[in-house]
Amino acid sequence: MLASGPSPLSRTTNMTLPEKGTDWESLKREMEKRGANDVKWRDGKTAVYVFNAGPDVERVQKEAYALFQSENGLGPMAFPSLKRMEDEVVANGLALLHAPEGAAGNITSGGTDSITMAMKTARDFARAEKGVKGQVNIVLPYSAHPAFDKAAKVMEIEVRRVAVGADYLADVEAMAKAADDKTIMIAGSAPCFPYGLIDPIAKLGALAQARGLWLHVDACVGGYIAPFVRMNGGGIPPFDFEVAGVSSMSADLHKYGYCAKGASTVLFRSEALRAHMIFDSNDWPGGRMVTPTLAGTRPGGAIAAAWAVMNFLGVEGYRAKHAQVTDAREKIEAGVKALGFSVIGKPQLGLIAFTRNDIDCMAIWGKLFERGWFTSLTTEPKGLHLMLSPFHLQVADTYLADLAWAVDEVKAGTKGAAREARYS
Ligand SMILES: *Cc1c(COP(=O)(O)O)cnc(C)c1O
Repeated sequence: MLASGPSPLSRTTNMTLPEKGTDWESLKREMEKRGANDVKWRDGKTAVYVFNAGPDVERVQKEAYALFQSENGLGPMAFPSLKRMEDEVVANGLALLHAPEGAAGNITSGGTDSITMAMKTARDFARAEKGVKGQVNIVLPYSAHPAFDKAAKVMEIEVRRVAVGADYLADVEAMAKAADDKTIMIAGSAPCFPYGLIDPIAKLGALAQARGLWLHVDACVGGYIAPFVRMNGGGIPPFDFEVAGVSSMSADLHKYGYCAKGASTVLFRSEALRAHMIFDSNDWPGGRMVTPTLAGTRPGGAIAAAWAVMNFLGVEGYRAKHAQVTDAREKIEAGVKALGFSVIGKPQLGLIAFTRNDIDCMAIWGKLFERGWFTSLTTEPKGLHLMLSPFHLQVADTYLADLAWAVDEVKAGTKGAAREARYS
């Protein structure tokens, strides 16, 4: 990922709440003015943070969100509509990811939330069902998402990151060595964010079964694209509940599910496993509270928009949108190779990272930024990173032309980034 521009950690103003309110039209104008300085993602030049599935999907997200924006998923008795929509979205996810009969899951607020809940569930399962006590740990490939570390910090779980192999995939033998009787979870990614590569989940599943370990597959970015790429003929290896050793998965609706932000799914092989996620408390004067995920209040808009987008697209819609992503990736893959870059591993979905060691990729990033491109980076090795949306098929040629220009500029020693940017 990339950190540049204003720090998210410090505040930028000492303003206080105005005494008098302002009319909405003026506020709207002000907000639009502020937005004018943001990346212009609708023009296709942003390949991180945003998924651009086109104006038709954007409209469904917005209108469905607005219809249920005040409703609260915390209250299924008050809002059976949301409960039903959540159950149907989860059922869609479970079916797409080969979950067996009796599998279960929930909508969460995002991938970090899904991973946190999966870790909490695995830990409580280990304590309750296996009698594991004391300091516990999880074992991850080095390429796994920092969300695992964030959750581990909250729960005081030790994280053991294991170097990936020469192929940039999880090194299953090394992970086997790192796991012990205090390991509550091993994980693989499908795919990992930095390289866009699917870890050898079948091998991890075999390890999990042989050693009685909980295997989580982090399909946050891949869960709602990989099944459709496979239907389109892409040779996707087994990565989901089809692999017998997989206990839980995270799959983000707000990424390649093209749903509104604030929606992910956390999925479990059985209701018995999911039971360890549920919070159930009656130790206060307000009555019993039962919640599946970390959230109390759960935004109805995010649940409703996820339901609407899934049903708007259907299998055919997803296949068509994801075919555009695949075409964009293949075009860019061929193009960057022709320009002298090497692609890291063999990406199969919508993420691609590429590198070359005769030239400073950071300087190229800066040049592309000058031309309005906002993309991500990899640090090991130093490379350029793209998270592609359907719309990128329309701008792939422009990207490649600008990349060729950037390479020439950097080779000629023209001064680099117009604005400070750094690897993070
Ligand atoms: C995006 C992502 C996450 C985290 O999801 P958020 O929705 O950003 O919290 C976790 N794992 C992978 C592989 C991801 O791409």
